[in-house]
Amino acid sequence: MAATFSGNAKAEICRSFPQKHCCALAQCFGVLLFCNNFTSEGIRIITECKEFAAILPKLFRKAFGIDFDIVPDLEETGKLVFQITGQKKLQQIMVAYGFDPVGILSLHINLPIVEDDCCKAAFLRGAYLAGGSVTDPAKAYHLELATNHRYVAREAYTFIREVLGFYPKMAQRGGGQVLYLKHSDLISDCLTYLGAPIAAMGIIEARLEKELNNKVNRRCNCDEANTSKVVEASQEQLCAIRILRQNGQFERLAPKLLQAAIAREENPEASLTELAAMMQPPITKPAMNHRLKKLVQLSKE
Ligand SMILES: [Zn+2]
Repeated sequence: MAATFSGNAKAEICRSFPQKHCCALAQCFGVLLFCNNFTSEGIRIITECKEFAAILPKLFRKAFGIDFDIVPDLEETGKLVFQITGQKKLQQIMVAYGFDPVGILSLHINLPIVEDDCCKAAFLRGAYLAGGSVTDPAKAYHLELATNHRYVAREAYTFIREVLGFYPKMAQRGGGQVLYLKHSDLISDCLTYLGAPIAAMGIIEARLEKELNNKVNRRCNCDEANTSKVVEASQEQLCAIRILRQNGQFERLAPKLLQAAIAREENPEASLTELAAMMQPPITKPAMNHRLKKLVQLSKE
């Protein structure tokens, strides 16, 4: 798989492997609640991220001392599928998170699992690695977390507010729920919290670049607008001077106006300031404006 912005962010997050058992348990919890399938019948985790695939078996061994029943060949490209199907293993995991191992499940974020700050971060890292993605900031600002469990989405919504200080947005997609961020500052804060400061910096840099481009564009547009105004005014003045020539008024103009008319005729593209400097003696820009307006006015009489 080609390195994408999202893939790089995940690879970066994978570098923080949980040191403590409590954090490994919390990170697995995040993975399970945001992965493709987590029921008492079976667990299925699908990822395209090689770094995540590389740490997953270690993570589950650290948290539960168990191995996946089905693991992918890491040399393969595309979707990598991990599965746990053994009933004993599934029960052990369910019990570890406080769920009834045989009853019908509606999964929750079991708060004691994510009580400590170290575990909060680990939980969100797991959730992001399994169900998250971030869009290349050159295209759009978008970070999301998807889960199949409605209650989990609702609880994650408040959980994110608690740990990051802001609420994500929430939407339904397909049969699942999506929590997402659209603001570049919040996305970079979130990535920093998850342990991906390089990706976070990428978001900030993309925003600065965009702002700079916008500023340059705005200035260009502004210059263009000014230029077209100058051209318009000049055209009106040239037209007035032509009329004055045609009806014989030109030669009878007062010396100051005559000087202005000649200067304009000879310099159709000059700005008021430039024309004002050409007068003998030089005059101010408003005075130049006044002379040219007077020419236009005379031509209309
Ligand atoms: Zn912990």
